[in-house]
Amino acid sequence: MKTRIYKADDLAYDHVREDIRTTILAGRNVVFPTETVYGIGANAIDETGIRRIYDVKGRPSDNPLILHIADADDVTKYVTTIRPYAKRMMERFWPGPLTLVFDKSEIVPDAITGGLDTVGIRLPDSAIARDIIRIAGVPICAPSANISGRPSATLLEHVIDDFSGKVDIIIDGGKTPVGIESTVVDVTGDHSVILRPGMISRAMLAEIDNLVSVNEQSGLEKAPKSPGMKYKHYAPKGELVIIDGAVESVVSTILERLKQHGTQGDQCAVITTSEYQNKFPEDVVFVIGDADDDETIAANLFAILREADQRGMTHIYSMAFASGPHAEAIMNRLLKAADGRIITV
Ligand code: AMP
Ligand code: MG
Repeated sequence: MKTRIYKADDLAYDHVREDIRTTILAGRNVVFPTETVYGIGANAIDETGIRRIYDVKGRPSDNPLILHIADADDVTKYVTTIRPYAKRMMERFWPGPLTLVFDKSEIVPDAITGGLDTVGIRLPDSAIARDIIRIAGVPICAPSANISGRPSATLLEHVIDDFSGKVDIIIDGGKTPVGIESTVVDVTGDHSVILRPGMISRAMLAEIDNLVSVNEQSGLEKAPKSPGMKYKHYAPKGELVIIDGAVESVVSTILERLKQHGTQGDQCAVITTSEYQNKFPEDVVFVIGDADDDETIAANLFAILREADQRGMTHIYSMAFASGPHAEAIMNRLLKAADGRIITV
């Protein structure tokens, strides 16, 4: 298949809009940018395109897809109940990087929920994403546009690497600004439960529901409430290890490791903030941002993991980024990418 790539500006042309609309309605896939990461989209109320997403991504079929809408009022079509605190979260954080999990209505196909009675819904802040949903005229399910297990795509080139020739259309929206996926919150109970941390942080949610909790199972247990959390995620090809602790010790530990690898012909990378880049040899350093700017750290995380892959890095050492307001979200992704390998020094 030859993939058609359009620029965001091309959405002004009728023939491009028609191509997107007919492609989605034919049960095929369109990759488009959202404010979090790129998503691979299909008609959320027709199984053909949904099945194709699972196939193309290699996604396990019990890992549900998030339904994306362009107008908040549409949520009522797909859910049975909206609790008052959920309504307040929608008013405060939509459009934005927050997915709410509701009890689903009949029209939501089991194919997107992995057989659950609930559905995750998000109203994206990205004008391009909302335009795509409106062009299609149907809700769009759109998991992250990466081969399952790989780092999510935040740049067009990542999407092309994973999906060129495998999807009908890719929309180029440049770099996605948030850089990590939405916060997923279960709003079916008396109080909210965070199933996946994200840039809408626990502190921000607590302003609305002061008893917000975190699903302690996320990630490890047999039957986590958010099925996606049990799978391998975000992994670069090289072996990623996080080194945590006082900066001096972290730096000396990483330098020691680099020295050991030096004699073995390994390709090493170090992910660090700008403050410490001079501590390491120039050719191994990947600067993720400034230590006090964790929005930028989040925005660059997946792109750095992908770049390390492109440059053939076999061993990647990362500092921990655990002190800012978005530490929970960033460390969730980094730890999964490292498959839990963290050394405290
Ligand atoms: P992705 O689309 O790749 O960003 O992944 C979507 C995430 O949302 C996965 O971790 C899913 O398990 C989670 N999710 C989607 N729908 C639901 C749902 N109905 N209940 C619980 N988690 C969900
Ligand atoms: Mg994903």
